[in-house]
Amino acid sequence: MSVLSVRSLSKTFGGVHAVNDVSFDIGKGEFLALIGPNGAGKSTTFNMINGQLTPDSGDILIGDKSIAGMAPRDIWRLGVGRTFQVAATFGSMTVVENVQMALISHARGILGLWRPAASLHRERALELLAQVGMADAADRPSRELAYGDVKRIELAIALANDPQLLLMDEPTAGMAPRERNDLIKLVKALVVERGISVLFTEHSMDVVFSYADRIIVLARGRLIADGNAAAIRDNAKVREVYFGTGKTFQETAS
Ligand code: ADP
Ligand code: MG
Repeated sequence: MSVLSVRSLSKTFGGVHAVNDVSFDIGKGEFLALIGPNGAGKSTTFNMINGQLTPDSGDILIGDKSIAGMAPRDIWRLGVGRTFQVAATFGSMTVVENVQMALISHARGILGLWRPAASLHRERALELLAQVGMADAADRPSRELAYGDVKRIELAIALANDPQLLLMDEPTAGMAPRERNDLIKLVKALVVERGISVLFTEHSMDVVFSYADRIIVLARGRLIADGNAAAIRDNAKVREVYFGTGKTFQETAS
């Protein structure tokens, strides 16, 4: 069974078909890139899956459970994580406290527990920080961190919730090319280890082609291609609609 099934999903804003009859699946442990020009409907698709938007029609299944129109928190409880959304309190706590908060919140969400003794989770939080290469920063205030390091902490926080599916809409926005590559590489290594499925958007085609197991392409709300890197690179429709000019991906890179 697929971890996520999106079936004939549609959403309009006014007269705009932001997402138009889109269907795709994600298998267990699959690292799936969703690409397409600005305004293609990527974020709208993400926001229907995470519960921030209700679809006009179609269905979204996690395993065999329909989640279309469910509240974000209930979807999160089913193991759908989102990265790269910084909590308001983030900066005033230390790095390790932020990860501990996520572990506490996870324990409450899953087990209905409230454990005020945050220190109980410190060791597990330190382990997660080590996995994202941030162990040395554990006791520093989060607000002092460099941008790329914040992204790593956010990843540790997402993993603290033990998701089966991670949604990452433009996780590397604002990062330099080298940092982008390193972050996606790190995400992939960590999720492969855990069998977590990932749906992500990323503007760098080099990064997408290097790391995605499969790529789906949206243009003007419609899914126009679904395949591996080689198939997408050679897809005439993708070149035409995505780049307009029929140029190759190499020519438009960087
Ligand atoms: P992408 O993430 O691929 O850049 P979006 O999903 O953000 O694309 O947007 C798809 C289309 O829907 C665009 O035409 C955008 O202007 C429109 N759109 C997105 N969100 C809203 C909204 N809240 N209200 C009105 N139009 C929206
Ligand atoms: Mg977007």
